[in-house]
Amino acid sequence: MPELPEVETIRRGLSKLILNKKIVQVDVFEQKSFLGKKTEVVNAKIISLRRRGKALIFDLSNENSFLVHLRMTGQLIYQGQEKFAGGHPNENFVEELPNKQTRVVFGFSDDTKLFFNDQRKFGFVKVLKTRDVEEEEFISKLAKEPWEMTTEELFEKLKKKNTTVKSAILDQTIIAGLGNIYADESLFFAGVRPDRKCVDLSFTDVEKILLGARRSMEDSLNSGGSTIRNYVKADGTRGNYLDLFAKVYGREGKKCVKCGGEIKKARVAGRGTHYCSRCQK
Ligand SMILES: [Zn+2]
Repeated sequence: MPELPEVETIRRGLSKLILNKKIVQVDVFEQKSFLGKKTEVVNAKIISLRRRGKALIFDLSNENSFLVHLRMTGQLIYQGQEKFAGGHPNENFVEELPNKQTRVVFGFSDDTKLFFNDQRKFGFVKVLKTRDVEEEEFISKLAKEPWEMTTEELFEKLKKKNTTVKSAILDQTIIAGLGNIYADESLFFAGVRPDRKCVDLSFTDVEKILLGARRSMEDSLNSGGSTIRNYVKADGTRGNYLDLFAKVYGREGKKCVKCGGEIKKARVAGRGTHYCSRCQK
């Protein structure tokens, strides 16, 4: 699932390519992937591209916006002179489009296109009034992101939770933007075991978790997340973007970068969880 840094990477990459482009056509191949009316989007220009949590918000010149949520397998692929692809990394990044995973296509007046692909169809495009974006149910519930939140705020929230720390930091109403990858990376950075109870965390633990969240997401942003750049390496082979920043996620059985011990994988909060039993207490 694309996480916050991947979505931010898409926002930055697409902003350079689609701002001020006029949408002249919308093709919907899957009705449940497009909520709203095509007519509210067609003939409008994209005037800004924002992000709230893991949702991308395309603001249009006609006071409408459309929101894109990639969920599990969503991708946005821009095809013009340049190609830019981000989201769930797979062969669509480099294949001809549209294909059977293409749900919505936006056509621009300069003949370039933006494809929304989504194999499992949990993602969506939703058209709404720009003034209603902040009240949209998904967006209004979002907690602060790690950069906006103080240690005091996170500590106050966590000390009331009777769950494991992994489960709590995945909760988007507590802290926004941490998915399975960055939750594991943050806890490794902090030296905190994922199955520790929130009530047992010290202020310093929480401070380190917050720093770890910022640091791991920034490392990912600097590496470009799951974009075409990382999917296809310079030599034409497939790259795994996780290799660029992940210290524990997806590294079970490999050596811990800090202590040389073995990275373990266990189920915590119902999710595959990666940690070092020596470095994390
Ligand atoms: Zn270790």
